[in-house]
Amino acid sequence: MNSENFSLIVHGGAWSIPDAAVADCRSGIHSSLEAGRKVLSHGGSALDAVEAAIVVLEEDITFDAGIGSHLNRDGRVQLDAIIMDAVTLKAGAVAAVERIKNPIRLARKLLESSSHMMLTGAGAELFAQESGIPLCDPSELIIERERTAWLRCREGNHESEFHFGHRHGTVGAVARDSRGRLAAGTSTGGTCCKFPGRIGDSPLIGCGCYADADAGAVSCTGHGEAIMKVVMAKSAVDLLRTGASAAAAATESVQLLARRTQSTGGLILIDREGHPAAWFNTPRMAYGYIEVDGSFRVLPE
Ligand code: ASP
Repeated sequence: MNSENFSLIVHGGAWSIPDAAVADCRSGIHSSLEAGRKVLSHGGSALDAVEAAIVVLEEDITFDAGIGSHLNRDGRVQLDAIIMDAVTLKAGAVAAVERIKNPIRLARKLLESSSHMMLTGAGAELFAQESGIPLCDPSELIIERERTAWLRCREGNHESEFHFGHRHGTVGAVARDSRGRLAAGTSTGGTCCKFPGRIGDSPLIGCGCYADADAGAVSCTGHGEAIMKVVMAKSAVDLLRTGASAAAAATESVQLLARRTQSTGGLILIDREGHPAAWFNTPRMAYGYIEVDGSFRVLPE
């Protein structure tokens, strides 16, 4: 928590970020922190801050969320997102949407104005239309870099370097506002060349995201099928609940992922007192948070 009494941490995925991509990651993380801080410093809610911070990352083609996401096996972008309110334990989640530029906004709309917690595909897009959220053309989410990578994958050379060095690159944010309310969110294009309709951990409550006012709030990234096995976000919150420090909860959750699934990933969290923490077992993770003195710490350096 900083001197203004709020906390914010954001991530742009845990992956083998090549040196050439570090500057773009840092700039995206910095802009996301700025957007979230603007909300929080004006007395806005943690939910508003999480949404604002994630929108910036979805609109940045550096990351695997919103425009610039990986293409699935059929050459289409299918997006997943979730946002969760720690006070009410209510979440809004959307999955496998193809015509939504900012799925985190749709997830937020679902959180606020539906009794449901999760909608997929055509149903989620129908909800968007009925809620006044514009649909885009699916082609607007596809960029040349990812189309080229997809074409090379189809030729049988499924290598991560064709994806600008990344196989993953989900985004997320966790905030605690000046009234002490916590929220978390996660948004992703999922894994490259995924089977159409595949949904990973990201939009699943407890897996890619969890928030409970009694303990803390978490957003995850990494190999979705592995994160689901250990329900990583809920596992981290439960560690906080039983008295682990923010740093210990983050580290132990990623260790659990590695030990039980031999897989890789990372997470960011904020405990109920407002302490941020992050951990990952990939070569690098793009993330940043607001320091106690109000400055931004942005990684990797
Ligand atoms: N967890 C995401 C998924 O499996 C990918 C990532 O975090 O990079 O869809």
